[in-house]
Amino acid sequence: MNKESIFTRIIRGEIPGDFVYRGERLVALKDISPQAPVHFLIVPIESSYRDVVELTKNDPELLSEIVQLAEQLAKEHADGQFRLIFNTGADAGQTIFHVHAHVLAGNLKEASLGE
Ligand code: 5GP
Repeated sequence: MNKESIFTRIIRGEIPGDFVYRGERLVALKDISPQAPVHFLIVPIESSYRDVVELTKNDPELLSEIVQLAEQLAKEHADGQFRLIFNTGADAGQTIFHVHAHVLAGNLKEASLGE
């Protein structure tokens, strides 16, 4: 089911995506509805983990790679400080059940997610 998430379709090129990073196991792209001056989504190419809990249980190294990539992107696109968010569960604001991290950076005083 998750294999056909919107992120999988973007990664395949079936839907346009504004990529800021493409690696062997991760991609990062601009969120279509940014909540901060910098708002990227880091998405594993592997689509079988629906949320960060499943990812952590099955591939903790990939979670570590996500954190390192978030830092790299925040340094490249802002001042290196960032907020890293994994909405986990529909009631927590998750709408796409293909694990992804929101990287927010820039002026975060106005930023909020899931409201
Ligand atoms: P979630 O609500 O699951 O934590 O995050 C999903 C995010 O994906 C939202 O912030 C939403 O704006 C973003 N999004 C939804 N559809 C698209 C799309 O087609 N392209 C891009 N780049 N982002 C999307």
